[in-house]
Amino acid sequence: MAAAPALKHWRTTLERVEKFVSPLYFTDCNLRGRLFGDSCPVAELSSFLTPERLPYQEAVQQDFRPAQVGDSFGPTWWTCWFRVELTIPEAWVGQEVHLRWESDGEGLVWRDGEPVQGLTKEGEKTSYILTDKLGEKDPRSLTLYVEVACNGLLGAGKGSMIAAPDPEKVFQVSRAELAVFHRDVYKLLVDLELLLGIAKGLGEDNQRSFQALYTANQMVNVCDPAQPETFPVAQALASKFFGQRGGESQHTIHALGHCHIDTAWLWPFKETVRKCARSWVTVVQLMERNPEFIFACSQAQQLEWVRSHYPGLHARLQEFACRGQFVPVGGTWVEMDGNLPSGESMVRQFLQGQNFFRQEFGKICSEFWLPDTFGYSAQLPQIMRSCGIKRFLTQKLSWNLVNSFPHHTFFWEGLDGSQVLAHFPPGDSYGMQGSVEEVLKTVAKNRDKGRTNHSAFLFGFGDGGGGPTQTMVDRLKRLCNTDGLPRVQLSSPEQLFAALEGHSGQLCTWVGELFLELHNGTYTTHAQIKKGNRECERILHDVELLSSLALARSAQFLYPAALLQDLWRLLLLTQFHDVVTGSCIQLVAEEAMCHYEDIRSHGNTLLSAAAAALCAGEPGPEGLLIVNTLPWKRTEVLALPRPGGAHCLGMSWGEGPGHCPRHGLCSCPRPHLTTAPAAPAACVRSARAPADLASRPPPTKTDGSVTLDNGIIRVRLDPTGRLTSLVLVASGREAIAEGAVGNQFVLFDDVPLYWDAWDVMDYHLETRKPVLGQAGTLAVGTEGGVRGSAWFLLQISPNSRLSQEVVLDVGCPYVRFHTEVHWHEAHKFLKVEFPARVRSPQATYEVQFGHLQRPTHYNTSWDWARFEVWAHRWMDLSEHGFGLALLNDCKYGASVRGNVLSLSLLRAPKSPDATVDMGRHEFTYALMPHKGSFQDAGVIPAAYSLNFPLLALPAPGPAPAAAWSAFSVSSPAVVLETVKQAETSPQGRTLLLRLYEAHGSHSDCWLHTSLPVQEAVLCDLLERRDPAGPLLLQDNRLKLAFTPFQVQSLLLVLQPPPN
Ligand SMILES: [Zn+2]
Repeated sequence: MAAAPALKHWRTTLERVEKFVSPLYFTDCNLRGRLFGDSCPVAELSSFLTPERLPYQEAVQQDFRPAQVGDSFGPTWWTCWFRVELTIPEAWVGQEVHLRWESDGEGLVWRDGEPVQGLTKEGEKTSYILTDKLGEKDPRSLTLYVEVACNGLLGAGKGSMIAAPDPEKVFQVSRAELAVFHRDVYKLLVDLELLLGIAKGLGEDNQRSFQALYTANQMVNVCDPAQPETFPVAQALASKFFGQRGGESQHTIHALGHCHIDTAWLWPFKETVRKCARSWVTVVQLMERNPEFIFACSQAQQLEWVRSHYPGLHARLQEFACRGQFVPVGGTWVEMDGNLPSGESMVRQFLQGQNFFRQEFGKICSEFWLPDTFGYSAQLPQIMRSCGIKRFLTQKLSWNLVNSFPHHTFFWEGLDGSQVLAHFPPGDSYGMQGSVEEVLKTVAKNRDKGRTNHSAFLFGFGDGGGGPTQTMVDRLKRLCNTDGLPRVQLSSPEQLFAALEGHSGQLCTWVGELFLELHNGTYTTHAQIKKGNRECERILHDVELLSSLALARSAQFLYPAALLQDLWRLLLLTQFHDVVTGSCIQLVAEEAMCHYEDIRSHGNTLLSAAAAALCAGEPGPEGLLIVNTLPWKRTEVLALPRPGGAHCLGMSWGEGPGHCPRHGLCSCPRPHLTTAPAAPAACVRSARAPADLASRPPPTKTDGSVTLDNGIIRVRLDPTGRLTSLVLVASGREAIAEGAVGNQFVLFDDVPLYWDAWDVMDYHLETRKPVLGQAGTLAVGTEGGVRGSAWFLLQISPNSRLSQEVVLDVGCPYVRFHTEVHWHEAHKFLKVEFPARVRSPQATYEVQFGHLQRPTHYNTSWDWARFEVWAHRWMDLSEHGFGLALLNDCKYGASVRGNVLSLSLLRAPKSPDATVDMGRHEFTYALMPHKGSFQDAGVIPAAYSLNFPLLALPAPGPAPAAAWSAFSVSSPAVVLETVKQAETSPQGRTLLLRLYEAHGSHSDCWLHTSLPVQEAVLCDLLERRDPAGPLLLQDNRLKLAFTPFQVQSLLLVLQPPPN
C-alpha cells in the first residue's frame, strides 16, 4: 500500500534531495555513493620526470621507474610522464569501465600514440572511458601514457591565483584505478541536480518550483540506491517533468560549447600548446559522443600550434569542422588586446587569422570573438566590416566597476559610422557549467528582453582551458524545452546571430568605444613590453615600406614575404590580451622580450638588405642612405654615425642636398653632414638673453634656469627641470597655465582591490604627491647648433631616480623629453603632468586610424569612470585657436582632468609578476603648443615623426644621387600608413597601400606615385579586389575620396621590371 501523503516542509524536502546526491554526506547509502561500482588498482604504474616538454615519441622511450599513487613530483613547469599498464577484470564483462585518475597537475591521456583525453581535476575531468560496455572477446589489457604537467589549470600561483608562481611546487597523483561506472545512476544524478536547481532558482513564489521539488522528492522515495531495478520508475518521474513543454513565447538560449584558453598568462606560451591539445582532444570526444554538440574555437595561433605539434588532432578538428560541430570563430590570430595594438596591427590580426582559417578550414570566420578583453577600440567595427565580419561577441563589459552597460544585444557603431551587431552573453560569463541557475540568470539579466528573444550561453571551463564536460552537455540537452524555463538549444554562432539578426528592428545603437571601467592599469603595466610593441610596429612598418620600394626599383630583389609573416605573427602573438597588457607572469614577459628581440634583429637585417637593393647600380656618392618612411616631407635634425662609433648631428632639409622626400630616400654623403651643424640652429640661451635666431650666444645660466628657443617655441625650465613657460614664439602665446609648472612628476599610491597588474583605482588620485627636485641640478647639455638641450637629475624616492634631457631642435615644433628612470618601487604609480593654459570640456586622444574625444570633467558616473584612459601616440587639449599636444614614443596610459594633461609612465604592481617594471627605463615624450586646431597645426605628423625617426642606413654601394620619392598624398588629412607586398602577388609585383583619413573630415585627395604602376584597384582589408574594378590612373596619380576616419586599401600592380 502506498504511503499516505505527508505535509512537506520546503527546506527539509530540498535538503533531503541534496543529501541524496551529495558527494560529501551519506555517500555510504545515497545515490552519489553508487556512481562507481567495483574498482581495482592499475596493474603497473611507472613514471619519468623531465624539465622539458617532450614530444610523445621521445618521451615514451625514456627510462620509466616504478611509481605509486601518492608519489610527489615537480617542481613547477616540469613534466611527469606515467606509463599505466592495466588489466580489466574478466568479471566486468558487460559493464562500462573507466580509468579514474586524479591529479593536481593537468594530464593528457595518450593511447596508441595519439592524445585521446585531458584529465584535469579542476576541470572536472577525472575519468577516462576505457569501454562503454566490455565485450567478452575485447582485449582487457592495455598500456596508456598520461603526460602530467607540473601546473594546474590556472598555473602555479603561490597562495592565490594571481600571485607570482611558486617555482618549487610539488604535484601528486592521488588516484589511478579502474572502476565500473553506473550510467543509470549518473543520469538520475543529473536529473535530480537540475530539479534542485529549478526549485531553488524559481523559488517559493513559483508553482513550477514546487513541481520540481516534489518530483525530486518522489524520485528519492521510489529510488533505492542499492537496487538498480528501482531506477526506471524514478527516471520516468523525471522524464515526465522535463517533458512538460513551455509556450511559444519562451526565450531561447543558444548554448555554445567554448573553452577560453589564454594564449599565455599565468603559464608560458609553451604550456598553452599543451593546454590546447588537452582541451580540444576532449572536445573531439564530446563531439563524437554528442552529434548535436557544437564547439566554438577562437585564435588561429592556437590552432596553428596544434597543427604543427599534434597533426592527428588537427585532422580530427578539420573533420568536425566539415560536419559543422567544430566552428572556428573570431577571425584573428590571437584574442588580442582591444586597445593597445596599432590600427595596422589590428588589421594584421584579422588578415593572418582569416587567411589561416580559410586555408585550414575552408572558410573565413563570420564573427569577431573577444570575450575576455579589456575594452574595445572605436575603430574595430570598421576593421571588422572590411575583414568580412559584421557580428561581434564579448562579455567583458559586465566587469564594469561603475556603470552597468545598458545592452546585451545592440548595434555597435564605430568611429567612421560602420556598424556591427554586438552580443554580450547576458549570463556575464564565458565559462558556464550548464546549471539551471545560469540559465535563469541569462534571461533575467538580459537588458534587451522585449527587443530580442535570444541569448548566447557559452559553456565550458575556461581561461586555463579545460572546456565543456559531458555533464554540462547532458544538463543542457535535458533543459531543451521545459515549462517554466527558457528553451535551451545546442547552437552554433551562426544560428545565434541569424536569430538575433532576424529580429533586430528594435535594437538600440551604441556609438563609439566600448570602454571597460576596470583594468585601466594595463595601459601602463610592463613598460618594456609596451615599448617593444611600439618599436616592433615601427620596425615592421619600415621594413615593409623599404622592401616594397626595393621591389619596385630592383628586378633582382626578393620581397621577404615568408620571414615578414613570421615576424608579424610573433608581434601579433605578443598582443594577446594578457601579454601586451602586462598582466602575465615573468616567464611570459621574458618570452615576449625574446620575440621583440627577434623582430629587431631580423628587422635590421631586412632593412639592410632592402637598402642594398636600393643602392645597387645607381650612380652616386658612397655614404649614408637617409630614408624617410613617412608620407610627408621632413626637415629634421638627426644623429649620424661617425667612424669610431660616435655620432654627429646632421640636418635633413626640405630642399637641396640631404632633402628627405616623402616616403622616399636620398643620399647623404658624410662630408656634407659633418658640416651640417653650421646651419642655423636651435640654441640654448640664458633666461634673459634676447631671442635672436641668427646670433645665438652660448648657453649660460644666471638664475639657474635655462631657456631653449628655436624661433618656433621657447621653453623655460626652472632650476629643478620643471617647465615654467612654453611660448609659441610667433604669437607670444603662453601654453603653461598661470602660476603652474609643467613637466611635474607625480607619485601616487597604487594599491588596487585585487587585480594588481590590471587595476588602478579612482582613489589613487587622492594620494597625489609631486616629486620635488633640488635647485641647481639643471645643466646645459648640447650647446646650440642644430640642437639645444638641458638636462637634470631627479630623486623620485630613496630608491628610484630619474634623469632627463630636454631637447629642442632647429625647425622642430615640439620639445622632447628624453627620460631615463631607475625604478625600484612597490605599488606606486609615476606620472608626469602639464597644466595647460587651455580650457575645454573635452580632450582628444589618438586611437587606431583616428582619434576621439573624452571628457575632462567628472560630471556623470560615465565621465568619472574614465579617470585613466588610453591613447596611442598623442593627446591634445585645445580651445578655439590654440592647444597643447602631448606626444609619446611608447606610452599608452593617459588622462586629462580639467586643464592638466597627464601621461602615465610607470607602475609597480607585484602580481602576477613580482619583478615587473623594476629597473631601468628609457622613453621620450614631447610637448607641442600650437595655433588653430591640432589637425591644421600638424600634431598628427609630428607624433608620427617622433615615432618614426629618419633612417640613416649605411649604403653598401653607391646611393642614389638624387632624392627620390615613391608616393605623395595631396591632402594633409590623408595618411598613407602602410606599403607592403600584397598577400597574393603574381610575380611578386603587386603592392598593397593602406591609407586613412586622420582629421575626421570628408576629404578628396590625389595619390601620386613615381613607381611604374600598371593597374590600381581598391580592395578590402583582406585584400580582396573591389568588384567595381580598377581605378582611373592618370599621369601616375589617382583620385581617392575619404569619409571621416575611413580606411582604404589599394592594390597597385607594378609593371614588369626592365631586364
Ligand atoms: Zn583571457
